[in-house]
Amino acid sequence: MKISPAPSSVVSIRARRADVRGRVIAPDDTDYERGPNPLLRRDRAPAAAIVRVADDADVSRVLELARESGVELAVRSGCHSIAGHSVSEGGIVLDLRDMRALGVDVETGTAWAETGLTAGDVTDAVGAHGLAVGFGDSRSVGIGGITLGGGIGYLVRKYGLTIDDLLAADVVIADGEVRRVDAETEPDLFRGGGGNFGVATRFRFRLHKLDTVVGGVLLLPATPDVIAGFVAEAEAAPEELSTLANVMPAPPMPFVPEKQHGRLAIMALMAYAGAPEQGERGLAPFRALATPIADMLRLMPYPEIYPPEQEGSHPVATPHTMFVERIRDPEAETILEHLERSTAMMGSRSFGSSAARWPACPPTPPRSRIGRARSW
Ligand SMILES: Cc1cc2nc3c(=O)[nH]c(=O)nc-3n(C[C@H](O)[C@H](O)[C@H](O)COP(=O)(O)OP(=O)(O)OC[C@H]3O[C@@H](n4cnc5c(N)ncnc54)[C@H](O)[C@@H]3O)c2cc1C
Repeated sequence: MKISPAPSSVVSIRARRADVRGRVIAPDDTDYERGPNPLLRRDRAPAAAIVRVADDADVSRVLELARESGVELAVRSGCHSIAGHSVSEGGIVLDLRDMRALGVDVETGTAWAETGLTAGDVTDAVGAHGLAVGFGDSRSVGIGGITLGGGIGYLVRKYGLTIDDLLAADVVIADGEVRRVDAETEPDLFRGGGGNFGVATRFRFRLHKLDTVVGGVLLLPATPDVIAGFVAEAEAAPEELSTLANVMPAPPMPFVPEKQHGRLAIMALMAYAGAPEQGERGLAPFRALATPIADMLRLMPYPEIYPPEQEGSHPVATPHTMFVERIRDPEAETILEHLERSTAMMGSRSFGSSAARWPACPPTPPRSRIGRARSW
């Protein structure tokens, strides 16, 4: 891709390092991150400046600079946007990752968390108090993007989406003013502010008492009847059990017998957020679908559901997402036929329970968007 020169107004932004408490990093600085994130590839034009903000005042200043210069502004929390919305070619990246303060109030069961934190950071910190808030299935996803985008993960059927546990937020709106918003104060901004209304610097989450889960990975052979059976069991499961069934080639990992490497399997990520003995009962029907290739389901402190990730890990995927009413044998056969001829994988989540308790939000989305949703 062609690298266009940064507008002079942006160059002057880089010269204004003293204006912010945090760090302004330009492409010629040694700590300018290209990194393993494919969205920051070398063949892409660099951002003119990455501003690693330190506080709300820095955020206001960066918004002001963007307004004055008219250059593109991208907001980055965990940088997991698959569409690349948190990077900019030639613009300013407002990088929140140094805003990492976290305060847990055990008495009220709430936490204020700055939006440079990741799902893993918050889960570990609140987990130390036997508390939890549900994020996705990946430790390194930023709480900024996942919370504002909804957030579907290991606790979705028990406690709903991440955003369902959002009680309040600090938002620096486009004119640079900081607003504390909740359901009563500025409800329109709180409920409707999905994107481009401002930069959320802090979230207040409701926390749930959750010491342990029974969960982890269950690897099953991927045949049409096992896929259809898995989906049926996931739908019928108690709300404590949330599942993600990935149909994909079995990875060459130590826990997978060599003869299974590369063969299509169901790599199921599961968590039962309730009494351990009931968890074992809830998981039994899945184990009974076929002889597991690997069974790593176990009782664990909830934070262990997020295994460690490689530093700077940024998996790449091009997701196509949809809602389907059912996956029975014929649909499962079609899925397998397609996967056998491609390098794709299929991930299936069953919702219902807490995720479905919220009333639909008027107005109805445009027809072209009905039935399309994020698959996470
Ligand atoms: C490996 C992987 C696994 C995933 N698993 C799941 C999953 O299990 N469940 C799930 O629900 N999602 C999942 N996702 C999707 C993920 O939740 C979204 O891509 C999310 O937007 C990433 O958030 P982020 O902060 O890391 O990303 P970023 O790229 O930093 O931000 C994403 C978007 O949110 C905006 N944004 C971020 N922070 C703020 C802020 N503080 N204020 C205003 N705007 C902001 C950014 O500008 C950008 O448009 C996954 C993504 C990946 C790459």
